[in-house]
Amino acid sequence: MKFLIFGPPGSGKGTYSSEIEDKIDVEHIATGDMFREAVKKDTELGNKVEEYLDKGELVPDELVNEVVREKLKEIGMEGFILDGYPRTVEQAKFLEELVDIDALILLDVTDDIIIERLSSRRICKECGEVFNKLFNPPEEEGICDECGGELYQRKDDKPEVIKDRIETYEERSEPVISYFEDKIPFVVNKCREANAPIDGMVNNIIEGLEEKGLV
Ligand code: AMP
Repeated sequence: MKFLIFGPPGSGKGTYSSEIEDKIDVEHIATGDMFREAVKKDTELGNKVEEYLDKGELVPDELVNEVVREKLKEIGMEGFILDGYPRTVEQAKFLEELVDIDALILLDVTDDIIIERLSSRRICKECGEVFNKLFNPPEEEGICDECGGELYQRKDDKPEVIKDRIETYEERSEPVISYFEDKIPFVVNKCREANAPIDGMVNNIIEGLEEKGLV
């Protein structure tokens, strides 16, 4: 199956996808994670994208498209859940040419929730595990439960950058929803609580996929 998971920053795309990956046979591919990894490893790609990531701006389409094309080729073009891509209509058109998508999982959350969640998100410097002070706190503050690494706040999760990211989402990414609306099935997951339990949300998504005969 080939799924997209779509929603504003902080809607839970990464968190839910990691769980979904364990429950159904799909590989979680997150462009944001790939870029952060490249920055950490100081690769050529990392150097090209670092400034965009720090400012919460979109990486140019050509660059993202190429990274996704390579990745999908590597996994044989199937069995994936794409998180954070496409984020523009141009990217959506590129993806469509590349592969047929089976469904879009849409995460519907309010701006208040986004702001609350993103400002309390912390990431492990070593293994990239994501925690959230609100609903998924580490056992020991500032320390990763998985590997003992130090937790940090993404530069783009600082309040002044969050506002810009929401604006970018509304202007550049929301049109992707209408683009796909009449083309592929949608599974909509509504969330109205910042600390909604992850399990419940993931179960709703899987039930939605089952109802549409997609898993
Ligand atoms: P994320 O982890 O999905 O929030 O992505 C972090 C950052 O990576 C974004 O703020 C962008 O700078 C960049 N990025 C990730 N995916 C894309 C994409 N599809 N198009 C453009 N930029 C992206």
